[in-house]
Amino acid sequence: MIQALEKPITYVKGVGPKKAEAYERLGITTAYDLLCHFPRDYIDYSVNVPIAQAPTDEPCAVKARLVRKLAPAFIRRGLTVFKAVMTDGSDDLTLIIYNAEYQFRSLCEGREYILYGKLSGSVVRREISSPLILPADSPDLIQPVYRLTEGISQNIIRQNIHSVLDSIGGMIYEPLPKSLMQSCGLCSLDYAFENIHFPRDSHALSVAKRRLVFEELLTLRLGMGLLRVKGRKATGCRMEKKDISSYYESLPFELTSCQKKAIAEICDDMCRSWPMNRLVQGDVGSGKTAVAAGAACFAAANGYQTALMAPTEILAHQHHETLTSFLEPLGIKVALLTGGLTARKKTELKEKIKNGGYSVIVGTHALVQQTTEFARLGLVITDEQHRFGVEQRDVLASKGENPHKLVMSATPIPRTLAMMFYGDLDLSVLDELPAGRQKIETYAVTGKLRERAFGFIRGRLDEGRQAYIVCPMIEENDLELQSVKEYAERLERQDFRGYRVGLLHGRMSAADKDSVMRRFKEHELDLLVSTTVVEVGVDVPNAVVILIENADRFGLSQLHQLRGRVGRGQYKSSCILVTDNVTEDSVKRLKILSRTSDGFRISEEDLKLRGPGDFFGNRQHGLPRLKIADMSSDTELLRLAQSSADGILAADPTLALPEHAGLRELAERLF
Ligand code: ADP
Ligand code: MG
Repeated sequence: MIQALEKPITYVKGVGPKKAEAYERLGITTAYDLLCHFPRDYIDYSVNVPIAQAPTDEPCAVKARLVRKLAPAFIRRGLTVFKAVMTDGSDDLTLIIYNAEYQFRSLCEGREYILYGKLSGSVVRREISSPLILPADSPDLIQPVYRLTEGISQNIIRQNIHSVLDSIGGMIYEPLPKSLMQSCGLCSLDYAFENIHFPRDSHALSVAKRRLVFEELLTLRLGMGLLRVKGRKATGCRMEKKDISSYYESLPFELTSCQKKAIAEICDDMCRSWPMNRLVQGDVGSGKTAVAAGAACFAAANGYQTALMAPTEILAHQHHETLTSFLEPLGIKVALLTGGLTARKKTELKEKIKNGGYSVIVGTHALVQQTTEFARLGLVITDEQHRFGVEQRDVLASKGENPHKLVMSATPIPRTLAMMFYGDLDLSVLDELPAGRQKIETYAVTGKLRERAFGFIRGRLDEGRQAYIVCPMIEENDLELQSVKEYAERLERQDFRGYRVGLLHGRMSAADKDSVMRRFKEHELDLLVSTTVVEVGVDVPNAVVILIENADRFGLSQLHQLRGRVGRGQYKSSCILVTDNVTEDSVKRLKILSRTSDGFRISEEDLKLRGPGDFFGNRQHGLPRLKIADMSSDTELLRLAQSSADGILAADPTLALPEHAGLRELAERLF
């Protein structure tokens, strides 16, 4: 970076301490920051309409010649109105300017201008008040519009950016290697800064934008790559190749090839001298638990303990059950730590864990983290990661001797996004479902068909099956809770009279939730009415219908998750999405779900429709904010930046080569 750009913003011509303070509110402290304060929009004066066609309900640009200035009218002290007659050759327009005498004087009779603003008046007497005015022969017909703060106007910021650009005069340091710019067809940083702020024309703007978006995405990916390498402190848990074929053989099913591949990748990772840091991404039902068990088995064969953390008690129970059935036949002991244990039991259990009496310890996040001491912790597995933030994951890492980390996420994230945001992790993808899974019939209906849907559900309950009804509780407040409760009671009294109905909601205590879920699992309940707490990984193979109220309130990926609660056994299953908000959009969205059951495809659609925000939750806080790139629309560049970054890192993992100095600076600046 050239020195001049690193200087405080007060070095910029026209910026004193007061403006500097205002700029600081926008996060701008240096000249470079100012250059990176990209316009949030542009006004394109080159696209203008004849006066007769100008709309009156929204701003637009018209081109007109100033025919004659009228005498100013002094309305009262402090209010002078200046008027001028303009024409575009066929129609006239009255220009009205309040008080701005200087601006009015600078206009010349006979000259052509482009006015941007809202027209008013009648067809015979059109007027435009206080428009933005630009000479028609101005070279800058596309004007930037910036995010502002008090004390900084559009004009001020434009001028200040102009001075910065003038002061560096095309001498800005180019951080991208020449070869990369050539192969990716990118303009120089100079050109990009110049034209993102003051585009010569719309083509120049798109060229500039492309370059800056690319640079931002490349930098993010490189930064993540550096983090990954940096995280490679030595681990005290280096493992050795062990044969775990007895695990494969003892399973009641054949693992899918992607499950096997994931386990192999994990085992390889754990044999390295630095800790594994891997994310297993798999669609609902892709069998992540069997992968986790394989990893735990490998660790146990090496004499290490595994901790598996689940987000809820229900899931901890479920994992414990599954892992016990997979691993105990092989002589691997699995402990369950939950809040429900008596103090004595808990102490006993902890004592045993500390002495190495258990190889696998399953529990909720809080419990496993807080108090447990391990004999020889080698592997930490976190389930359903996107419920947790980045920061939470790391607490356990400090226990043991830098143990290996495995994160399992049930939210398929578009691959491009995952590579970007989880670039500091290695990735295993389970994109193949175990054989024999049947498609879940999915219907989107309006409330008019609710009665019929209930009838359908009763039919399935009569066959001995079970069902879920989900109604979203968007805000966890009393009012919403009340309506959920009333809804459940109504179902119990009316539509599902004589059936055993349970209610599960987020404000119940963990123990109560657990007990309801257990009763449902053990078929003491036929119908479970629930807010979205049921979403995470609960496995009840006998449940075959899920009806989701207000389905339009959910993201597609979330609906897909919910749908994954059924179709887990041998019975034909269905998902009914109810919505009374029948807009073209909501119908289009919900139809995607009836068409496909591929979680990755659905997440791509979600990304297009709702942007990336939904996917990350807390994760996003730990990440730098994007200034110009948009993860949901810049997909072509996302791919290009990714493959470029990966190519660079493969050849030069720490960006130590001289031609990568600029890139390294960018990447390090990021974190
Ligand atoms: P998720 O990836 O959603 O966590 P689970 O691990 O809960 O999926 O697995 C879903 C169900 O599929 C479980 O009942 C599990 O025993 C079963 N399962 C896992 N792998 C296979 C496989 N390869 N073949 C058949 N069934 C499998
Ligand atoms: Mg799961």
